[in-house]
Amino acid sequence: MIDTSPATTKQYLLDEIARLTEELKPRAALRLPVDEPMDEHDMSVRILEQSRLEAVVEQRQKLLQQMHVAYGRLAAGSYGICEDCEQPILAERLEALPWATLCVTCQSRREQGNGRRWR
Ligand SMILES: [Zn+2]
Repeated sequence: MIDTSPATTKQYLLDEIARLTEELKPRAALRLPVDEPMDEHDMSVRILEQSRLEAVVEQRQKLLQQMHVAYGRLAAGSYGICEDCEQPILAERLEALPWATLCVTCQSRREQGNGRRWR
């Protein structure tokens, strides 16, 4: 059983925010060096690798953003309440995703709308 008390969650989010911020800091280091001449095959391999790295960075930035939001909500006393329907988010969901700000229903509704229009 994971401890989901506010103090523990707060510490968890702070730790994760610090860790992700640290990971994202040397963004330049994630870029591949392009100082040597390359043939077309090398080039396409590198382009693929580069876009993979960018996807990872983007995903982490999103996660970091979500953690900041969750942390803000924790401070504001609205942590664990769904942003959309204002119902409590299930404890099991918060254990798995402490930065969740939407209940399962609202999350899947947003995902179905491709994150653009969900209402
Ligand atoms: Zn909801």
